[in-house]
This record gives sequence, C-alpha cells and structure tokens, in this order.
Amino acid sequence: MRQAPNIVVTGTPGVGKTTHCESLAEKTGLRHISVNQVVKDKQCHEGWSDEYQSWIVDEDKLLDAIEDDVAAGGCIIDWHACDLFPRSWIDLVVVLRVDSATLYDRLKARNYAEAKLQENLDSEIMEVLLQEAREAYDAEVVIELTSNTSDEMESNLDRIEAWVKQWKIDNEQR
Ligand code: ADP
Ligand code: MG
Repeated sequence: MRQAPNIVVTGTPGVGKTTHCESLAEKTGLRHISVNQVVKDKQCHEGWSDEYQSWIVDEDKLLDAIEDDVAAGGCIIDWHACDLFPRSWIDLVVVLRVDSATLYDRLKARNYAEAKLQENLDSEIMEVLLQEAREAYDAEVVIELTSNTSDEMESNLDRIEAWVKQWKIDNEQR
C-alpha cells in the first residue's frame, strides 16, 4: 500500500505541466518526476528524432527506470502522455488545457518551428491527450483543469493539494 498517491500531470507541450509539478512538489512534499529528464539521464531512448525534435522513447526502459519510485508512492509524473503507465500505478491524472491563442504564444516563445507549433495546436484543439487519458483510466481518476492564467494555476494547485490531503485521510482509515 502506498503512503502517498501517484499523480500524472499531462497535456500538450506548453500547457504548464512542469510549472504545475514544481509548485505542487513544493506544496505537498511529493516528488516531481520529469519524464523528459529521466529519458535523458537514464538513456531510455533509441536516439534523437530530427523530425519530431525529441527523443524516441523506449517505453519499457522508461517504466523500468521509474518503477521503484512509483511503487513507493508520492510521485508527480510530468509528461505529455499518460497511457503507457499501468493503471494500478496511478491515483490521479490531471489533464491541463489552454486556449489556442495562449498556447500559440507560449510555443512561439519557445521558438517552435511552424509545423511543430501547428501540430501541437491541433492536438490541443482536438483534445488528443484528454481523450487518451479518458480511454486509459477510469472516469473518476481523470480531471481536466485549465491553465491559461496564474490565477487558474493557483486554484488548480489548491485543488490538487486538497485532493492529496483527502487521499491520505481515506487511505489511513483502511
Ligand atoms: P509544459 O511543461 O506543459 O510544456 P511549462 O510548465 O514549461 O509547460 O509552461 C510553458 C510556459 O507557460 C512557461 O513559460 C510557463 O511559465 C507558462 N505557464 C504555464 N502555466 C501557466 C499559467 N497557468 N499561467 C500563466 N503562464 C503559465
Ligand atoms: Mg515541461
């Protein structure tokens, strides 16, 4: 039995996953696992894709690399995908969403190439990651939160922090 819950924070690049995870880790004492960092540091990839400007992730290696941490509980997993994690690992999936204009500005600020920028905007508009989360997890595990402004972020963080507290209370009583 885990002492603390495991949370996935997911969404299209630029929605605010890393910003949320860092603050949430500070507020709750849970551990931020940046999958990008793990993929790089532990070489959970089959090389670099010039087309996608990202690592070609070896999912089995990645799952092996984080398995012990996740088994202990209390992880906040930061990644733009969620359906590779076994359902038994995950207590909450937070899908962050933003308006197209806001996402455009954030990705532009990152100097994304036009094709990659458009692909990510389309993905956000089509709710690709929300659908992926809903297909992979039970409905009560998945929450969708907007991340357009810092006020929205603060309210998201309060809400998730309250959820973590409640999870601990519920799981002590068993
Ligand atoms: P991701 O990890 O999903 O790619 P980041 O956390 O790196 O996204 O955020 C992308 C950019 O958007 C950063 O410059 C961050 O400061 C900004 N940002 C993220 N969330 C918000 C928000 N809720 N309100 C305002 N700016 C935000
Ligand atoms: Mg990030």
